[in-house]
Amino acid sequence: MSMPFPLVPEVATAPAEEIARILSDPGFGIHFTDHMAQATWTEAAGWHDDRIEGYHALALAPAGAVLHYGQEIFEGLKAYRRHDGSVWLFRPDMNAARFNRSADRMTLPQLPPEDFVTAVRRLVEIDQAWVPDATEMSLYIRPFMFGSEQFLGVRSAAEVTFVVIASPCGPYFADGVSPVKIWISTDLSRAGQGGTGAAKCGGNYAASLLAGRQAHRQGCSQVLFTDAADHEWLEELGGMNVFLVTSDGRLLTPPTSGTILDGITRDSVMALAPQFGLTVQERPISLSELLAGIGSQDVVEAFACGTAAVITPIGAFRLEREGQIEEFHLPSPFGPKTADLRRRLVDIQWGRTTDQFGWTTRVA
Ligand SMILES: *Cc1c(COP(=O)(O)O)cnc(C)c1O
Repeated sequence: MSMPFPLVPEVATAPAEEIARILSDPGFGIHFTDHMAQATWTEAAGWHDDRIEGYHALALAPAGAVLHYGQEIFEGLKAYRRHDGSVWLFRPDMNAARFNRSADRMTLPQLPPEDFVTAVRRLVEIDQAWVPDATEMSLYIRPFMFGSEQFLGVRSAAEVTFVVIASPCGPYFADGVSPVKIWISTDLSRAGQGGTGAAKCGGNYAASLLAGRQAHRQGCSQVLFTDAADHEWLEELGGMNVFLVTSDGRLLTPPTSGTILDGITRDSVMALAPQFGLTVQERPISLSELLAGIGSQDVVEAFACGTAAVITPIGAFRLEREGQIEEFHLPSPFGPKTADLRRRLVDIQWGRTTDQFGWTTRVA
């Protein structure tokens, strides 16, 4: 039986002036809407106790499973307000399907996709006043699930909590989209064959933070991971997939075979690419191919993509090779293909162009 996520009990919403004040400069992940969706799963009863309540702190026993063994997964998607005031989601069915693939890897229970989407839709509908209407601003939605059973034994939790919260977010690039510098890690890894790289789980992020710190020390904003075995094959950033554009019109990205997260933005970019004369090649890309390609100007553009920043142009890669720090600058730091793909994607998300793939769905 599907879960309706009823609103219980009625919660007072923030005054309009307070919401307006926050939406004028929301930042990212700082402010949260009035409500949250929640449901519980137990081995004995399955999913139950679904509801929308006021945003509140969770009560978790100190022996709660997630605090010890990290059995947790999450998703990230956005609600967009269009010119006419309506509110829309972008491919939420893809998030629901991926949530279940992640759950499978972390032995968390399957959540029927319709329940995932209902929880998201209900929360956005109820908190729609929190969806900003300014350019490139949206409501970021964070569904997550974790082992909440009070038990220190090492096994899959017999009680699990599912929650959805939402946070208004400002434009990722406050001063307009500008190219970033990326540190290529050739010592630390985020995922290995047979590991959890393809699951969207908190543990992968915890494992990526040290490399992220190295990147910052190198004056880079993010880190691009290479394969754990040889540090020779490009994988992805801590939370974004990577693409290269070649001078002869190819769009290259590594295959998501086990160690790379299957991004929905990634999938959308590949679907849109032919419209801009790009031929998609999903195949392993070596570090040598990348660096030689930049040197010979065969690789002209590079970008990272994910829900939060949509498409982030990459201006340069930096790495350590044989004890030397080297930097490789892209011939086109924010090239035309990167710009075209980004513009088309945000135009679809905000309903400014035809949604030929049927990716968007109205909530309010
Ligand atoms: C979420 C995520 C992405 C991007 O996925 P989108 O569905 O496009 O937001 C890429 N890599 C990792 C590791 C992620 O967690």
